Amino acid sequence: MEKAPVIFIGHGSPMNAIANNEFTQSLNAMRDLYPNPKGIICISAHWMTEGSWVTHGKHPKTIHDFYGFPPELFNVKYPAPGYPELAEGVAARIKIPEIYLDDEMWGFDHGSWSVLRHIYPEADIPLIQLSLDMEKGSSYHFELGKKLSAFRDEGILIIGSGNIVHNLKTLQWGEEAVPYEWAVKFDSWAKEKLIERDFKAFMNDYHQSPEGRLSIPTPEHYYPLLYVLGASHEEDQLHFHFEQIHNSSISMRTFSFI
Ligand code: ZN
Repeated sequence: MEKAPVIFIGHGSPMNAIANNEFTQSLNAMRDLYPNPKGIICISAHWMTEGSWVTHGKHPKTIHDFYGFPPELFNVKYPAPGYPELAEGVAARIKIPEIYLDDEMWGFDHGSWSVLRHIYPEADIPLIQLSLDMEKGSSYHFELGKKLSAFRDEGILIIGSGNIVHNLKTLQWGEEAVPYEWAVKFDSWAKEKLIERDFKAFMNDYHQSPEGRLSIPTPEHYYPLLYVLGASHEEDQLHFHFEQIHNSSISMRTFSFI
């Protein structure tokens, strides 16, 4: 079986779920990277927990975890099947940390469905989400990503969905919003470190510059990136699929290791 890639997607506004723009078109094209995964593990910025959990249901619900958006967005369903066997496999094979199975608390939030509906619009690929243990620091998330990497050999696509630069307080609406200098600077730093494969910098240095602190005021959109880095292999090729700053302070940088 061909090894599955690992992908980081900067998901940005929930409105991208129903938009047709350069970003969503870049997602449409990503299906060709790996047309028929056996399953998907998605680490979304929007499932924050104590402990690490995986969705275990056969038919997880579509969660609309946002407010103040048009009804059209609340009507979107992403009825991908769950993959209880994969969730059990993740829990059984990763002994440390303990991974808990969730049958009720969560489902698919917009961190996963707002992007997956552009990549796999038929919603026919079995999907599980893995939560973010918010009590843990960078190295925990990176190391857990490393442990997930073995699943790639079995045709399981791993997707981290967040944003490298994500500052909602300074966000500006409108397509003409000009990116902040600090946002561009931090996003470029991240690109450089990705190319150098300096993953330690992503764990240790990201908060050492003013632009890093402005870009990551809270870590939940950043942590999914660490799983992707952890799950990458040395021999993988790095590809950038999209690089723009939306709403002045949201980096949409999207890349894969294949
Ligand atoms: Zn988000």
